[in-house]
Amino acid sequence: MSLIVTTTATATDPCAESDIAFNPAATLQVGFLGKEPAASQRRFLNTRDSYARLMETKVPGGAIGIAPHSLRAVTLDDLKWAADTWRGKPSHIHVSEQLREVEECLAAHNKRPIDLLIDTVAIDEHWCLVHATHADAKELARIANAKAVAGLCPITEANLGDGLFDAPSFLAQGGRFGVGSDSNVRISVADELRTLEYGQRLIHRRRNVLGGPAQSTGRRLVEFALTGGAQAVGRPVGALAPGKRADLVVLQPDGLHDDRVLDAWLFSADNSAIKSVYCGGVPVVQNGRHVARDAIATRFQRVPVDAAR
Ligand SMILES: [Zn+2]
Repeated sequence: MSLIVTTTATATDPCAESDIAFNPAATLQVGFLGKEPAASQRRFLNTRDSYARLMETKVPGGAIGIAPHSLRAVTLDDLKWAADTWRGKPSHIHVSEQLREVEECLAAHNKRPIDLLIDTVAIDEHWCLVHATHADAKELARIANAKAVAGLCPITEANLGDGLFDAPSFLAQGGRFGVGSDSNVRISVADELRTLEYGQRLIHRRRNVLGGPAQSTGRRLVEFALTGGAQAVGRPVGALAPGKRADLVVLQPDGLHDDRVLDAWLFSADNSAIKSVYCGGVPVVQNGRHVARDAIATRFQRVPVDAAR
């Protein structure tokens, strides 16, 4: 299962923290008009030289990618430079996350954020547009045509009140999506996919909006998320097949069979349905508990509140 984690400084597939790292691109400005960064933002800043050094970081057995946080955090020149220099590497950017961002982008560049991104960089299947919440019809078509992934974060977007991605139109055009967490307010693949589906049901006032005629809604959502997530992180994951990494989630069937197990996980049982998780064949969750849960909780409680800011 590839859950895309989209933090600013580093982002990792939680199943393989040492296998992929995303570097923030040469972050040289704050806001569309390049305001001076606040003291708390300085730790995210890079020059092109320091960024190139970061990109030389060895990631054992894995990949490294670029994550030029957003169009507000990077100059268009630097964005183009990073995209051209590391073309073909996984490339993630938060874009069209809030209406205010759209308005500011229109005011500064006379273009909507996704239009501005695609006019600046030739995005392709290595790109993941995190959120893309306020993509209009033309922007949705441009993402789908580029075969890029929409990195949806439905829990985060709901928690922050940001808005709802037009998933039905996007999927109808062959769009690809993965799910991830931005705020990390809750980590649950089932909850991400349920929130995505329920959001659509609420605005369209009908059931099974993202389901298809031949598959259960749960099956279809999980397959989209596995395929799109694997594409976004650029790693051999997302399927039980020779050559793929053994990143596995084992669900408790509780007397159910076939796709009903997936539907029950997404719409009812949530994380309690997870019996075990294997990362690269190594068990990290057994009987519903992370193997290092106690040690991690103890360490977390010792972190001073200020250090987390
Ligand atoms: Zn974001």
